[in-house]
Amino acid sequence: MLSDWIDRALAEEEDREPSGKLAPSYLYGCERRAILRQRKTPPTVFPDARTRRVFTMGDIVEKFVLDTLEMKGLIVGRAVPVGNDLWQGLIDAIVKENGLTFILEVKSVHSKAFWHSAKEARNGYLSLGQGMPYDSHIYQASAYHLLRGDPDLANPHILYISKDDLAMEEFVLGRQQGLIVAWRMVPGAGDVGILTKRIPDELSERMARLEYYVTKGEIPPIPFARPDEHPFLCQKQKEPSCPYYHYCWGGKNLEL
Ligand code: SF4
Repeated sequence: MLSDWIDRALAEEEDREPSGKLAPSYLYGCERRAILRQRKTPPTVFPDARTRRVFTMGDIVEKFVLDTLEMKGLIVGRAVPVGNDLWQGLIDAIVKENGLTFILEVKSVHSKAFWHSAKEARNGYLSLGQGMPYDSHIYQASAYHLLRGDPDLANPHILYISKDDLAMEEFVLGRQQGLIVAWRMVPGAGDVGILTKRIPDELSERMARLEYYVTKGEIPPIPFARPDEHPFLCQKQKEPSCPYYHYCWGGKNLEL
């Protein structure tokens, strides 16, 4: 069957080898997972065929967005490396629009999640863990901005796009008075958005905690009493989803 060939081709594609450094995309969530990844711990759980297809679809849609922006002359750089001795990441793009140059992260989501989160975002003033932009993406883009350390860069943007209907929501992030805030861009309002989300600014503390584990050569303890304590980090729909699941919940010993 033809679909088997496609699935096999996707399975054969090399997953990106961890760099041995901390990844801003792992900054939010489980610290243990971030450190196991940094240490290049061999995964015990791998994506199934459907998950690979979902990832591929996301890549296709994100490429469409960046190709289109590039065609319109807005892209300054794509897949821009960022980091230092401890951190390494890849910024989706650096964009120049209306005289402002900024980091852009593109995130594709399926339409059900998109419209649910967009509705929440439109109600505004969301707290930690709710709606768009998602906390993990806020921390990732904010860390890229911090690591880039370029005073000429304007605040980072996150663009969400629905995989089914290409609907989009765009947010600008800022750090102020102990908070990370997100403004939702509104059509026709230029660079002005509507304040949508504000969460405690723990960026520096989170980065410092992970850096501590790396420099000390320690692995953080398991943060949960049970694998189903968090709604999705270790398991999804009662199936192991974290690549390092069996080091925490049985079956595999960690080489320290
Ligand atoms: S299985 Fe759960 S506790 Fe263990 S590293 Fe993964 S997310 Fe963290």
